[in-house]
Amino acid sequence: MQSSLKFILIGTVALTLSACSGAQTPAAQAQDTKPSEKPAPAADAPSVETTDLGSGIYMIKGQGGNVGVAVGPDTVLVIDDQFARMSTAILGAIADITDKPVAYMINTHYHGDHTGGNENFAAAGATIIAHDNVHKRMSETQQSDLFDRETPPANPAARPHITFSDTTTFQTTGQKAKIHHVAGAHTDGDSIIHFEDANVIHMGDNFFNGMFPYIDTAAGGSINGMIAAHQTALDLADEATQIIPGHGAMSTKADLVAAQNLLKKIRAQVQARINAGNSLEEAIAADPLKGMESYAAFIDKDNMVKAAYLSLKK
Ligand SMILES: [Zn+2]
Repeated sequence: MQSSLKFILIGTVALTLSACSGAQTPAAQAQDTKPSEKPAPAADAPSVETTDLGSGIYMIKGQGGNVGVAVGPDTVLVIDDQFARMSTAILGAIADITDKPVAYMINTHYHGDHTGGNENFAAAGATIIAHDNVHKRMSETQQSDLFDRETPPANPAARPHITFSDTTTFQTTGQKAKIHHVAGAHTDGDSIIHFEDANVIHMGDNFFNGMFPYIDTAAGGSINGMIAAHQTALDLADEATQIIPGHGAMSTKADLVAAQNLLKKIRAQVQARINAGNSLEEAIAADPLKGMESYAAFIDKDNMVKAAYLSLKK
């Protein structure tokens, strides 16, 4: 399918290094453990950890989704930017790697723990690129099926500048980066980024390594789409591929196979409850994921059943 690009003109951007978007996913809330009633002491200032993956590709971990960095001969391409409060630390970590400017920011999806730093990166000179539906969802109020929460529209200055509908390739960084849109997976606007020459894949939140994934069914996500997104990446990967998950530790193809198998087991267990005529409440009460407790992190068993159930009933 031909890809189409839309150029969206954004007005003057404001530098708001201390402002938080207020749009946090459950992942963000789970990781945001600082008490809000008192100012954080300097020792608690956000810190990040950089992992050198070789070939000019790096992963930065902090609070929120894992950040990917690709350093080319002239410019830097970054994937996801966590929260606004993390921008100084992330930009500092990039400056420790290279003095090249951050020219491009790819958002893997709309959630605030992946896009919260957009205004700061735009102000620092980055052009923000994402799937059409990322811009759409950042422009409208969002609800969650799993959590009692409403996410207001992002500031116009935080929304992507360029959006695309399908596969898109970056040639300009000197790091060939192919963006694969995966439909209806974690959300309806997800991208997987494949650095073909470096043999690195950034999965966004289509992959939670070692834990139940969040599937944003209210935003078009589905368990079948997640399994298909895993397959898209598995078809691109070989045994040497380094895989950056949206959340969790650096991964291999074997880790992604394990995650896909887990989702297939969850799907089978929840589908059996649907086939038995269970309501959502009855399916949760039946505890179909008994024995999978070790995967509960910010998504517990009940919410995992709920996300699968809502996906499969659609
Ligand atoms: Zn997410």
